[in-house]
Amino acid sequence: MVAVGIGLAKPVEVVTPAEGEVFDVELEVNILRENERLAEENKGRLGSKGIHAVDVMGSVGSGKTSLIKSMISRLKQDLRIAVIEGDVTTTIDSDIISSEGVPTVQVNTGKECHLDANLIRKALDKLPLGSLDLIFIENVGNLICPAEFPLGSDRRLVVVSVTEGPYMVVKHPMMFRDAKVVAINKIDVASAMGVDPNKLSADVARLNPKAATVHTSCRNGIGVNEVIEKLGLNR
Ligand code: MG
Ligand code: ZN
Repeated sequence: MVAVGIGLAKPVEVVTPAEGEVFDVELEVNILRENERLAEENKGRLGSKGIHAVDVMGSVGSGKTSLIKSMISRLKQDLRIAVIEGDVTTTIDSDIISSEGVPTVQVNTGKECHLDANLIRKALDKLPLGSLDLIFIENVGNLICPAEFPLGSDRRLVVVSVTEGPYMVVKHPMMFRDAKVVAINKIDVASAMGVDPNKLSADVARLNPKAATVHTSCRNGIGVNEVIEKLGLNR
C-alpha cells in the first residue's frame, strides 16, 4: 500500500499491516461489538419475563455488597430477587448476600477485571427466571472497563465511597455516563476523611445531569430507601 503524503523531500516512514494481521484495537472493537449483541439478547430475555436488572458498579471496598444487601432486606417482602455476584476469584460477597435467603450465582472471572454479557448469559441459565422480579448484578470492583461492557441490565447503579478521596468521580468519567443512580457512600466518615460528599455529587451532576445522586451510609441505613426509590424499584 502506498501512503499519500504532502510531498516533503524526505518520505515519511509508514507502517502498514500485512495481509490477515490482527490488530489489538481491531480485536477490541470485535469483542465490544459481540458483547453488545449478547447484552441485547440478555435484555430481551429479561424483558420478556418482566425482570428488572441492576448493574452495580464501583471499586473494591466502595460498599456495593453492603448496599445490595441493605436493599434486598427492604425489598424481599414484595419482590422476588436474585443476585449475580462478580468477583475475580472469591465467593466472599455471595456468602454475605446469600444470608438474605435469595438465590445467588457466583461468577468468577479469573483474570478478567469486569463482567461481560456472555458470563451473564451463563449465569441467567442458572437462575429461576420464571419466578423472579429483580436481579442485582454486582460487577467486579473496577472503575474502568465495566463501563464499556453492557450486560443487558436495564439500569446502572454506581457506588462511590468518600474513602476514595475527593477526585474519584472526575478521574473516572466513563463510569458515570450511563448511571441512573450514583450512591455517595460511607457519608458517616466523610468529615474524618476530609471529603465533602456535596462536591462528589456536584462532580456527578456535571458528568451526567440525568443521574440521581444519593448520600448513603449502609452502616446507619441512611439513604437506602432513597436509592431504591430513585432506581424505581419500589412498588
Ligand atoms: Mg462486593
Ligand atoms: Zn476489565
